[in-house]
Amino acid sequence: MSHLTTELFRNDSYIKQCTATVAQIDERGIQFDQSICYAHGGGQLGDHAVLQSEDGRSINIIDTIKDRETHEHIHVVDADTIAGINIGDTLNMELDWQRRFSLMRFHSCLHLLCAIIDAPVNGGSIQIDRARLDFDLQEPVDKAELTEKLNKHIEADAAISTRWITDAELDAHPELVRTMSVKPPRNAEGTIRLVEIDGIDLQACGGTHVTSTKEIGAMLVRKIENKGKQNRRITVVAADAAS
Ligand SMILES: [Zn+2]
Repeated sequence: MSHLTTELFRNDSYIKQCTATVAQIDERGIQFDQSICYAHGGGQLGDHAVLQSEDGRSINIIDTIKDRETHEHIHVVDADTIAGINIGDTLNMELDWQRRFSLMRFHSCLHLLCAIIDAPVNGGSIQIDRARLDFDLQEPVDKAELTEKLNKHIEADAAISTRWITDAELDAHPELVRTMSVKPPRNAEGTIRLVEIDGIDLQACGGTHVTSTKEIGAMLVRKIENKGKQNRRITVVAADAAS
């Protein structure tokens, strides 16, 4: 049976704690009525969190995944830690915020990169300490120049906001889908979320973002690799972690 989880992080990516009631437990993990954990997808890793039961036990969420067909939002835990947890139990959920905030910074940074480089995106990945995008691009790119442009956008402190449109509206504006290989998530309600960086970028995206570019912090284009014909892989790291 599938349970639709209210995804609290979609409208507010800064919620660090919530209570959650167990809706389903199976060999894949636990589903809740609501969650602050982002499920792995769109190139962004799934969140980690700690659950606290009413009797004071702690259970680590070691990954959050989504069943793309059923839209089930599944919190992965070590199987031997969930004995005694039952459907209907209410637990406290606390996000591994440091980890998530890194992912948010890098995700927003990749949208800036998309805005700077006018070429189709073939794929991307957001890790805790680095992020990359693969562009369908033939012309060479200069690392120093790209770093400078990126940090100019970051220092401009542009607001980052989200809003929702229908699947039909998205279909009428295909330019809002930037990454052909990573389609933005369509949900059961038939709506899709847009992420706007004021004056810089607008695209469909289900990921978690910071609320202004300044929060991204200084970034450095670490590597530009050629991955086959027309494929340029650009990797960014935090400037203070690059030395
Ligand atoms: Zn995105």
